[in-house]
Amino acid sequence: MPIYEYHCSNCGHIFEKLQAIGADNSLLECPECHTPKPDRIFSAFAAKNSGSISSSSSSSSSSGDGGRFT
Ligand SMILES: [Zn+2]
Repeated sequence: MPIYEYHCSNCGHIFEKLQAIGADNSLLECPECHTPKPDRIFSAFAAKNSGSISSSSSSSSSSGDGGRFT
């Protein structure tokens, strides 16, 4: 049985649960705040999709760092 990751939309808690394939989340609840039906996280799908949106971190403009002491 695979382990699914779930995200609680109420408190934001992320937890893992051993679930049968095809099992729904109607019987699950957040272990922190006991809110039923947490969102299932498709980690494999998210990992594949994360490559398309790449924020180019351009930290080259760090001017004015030497102007503290007058
Ligand atoms: Zn919760």
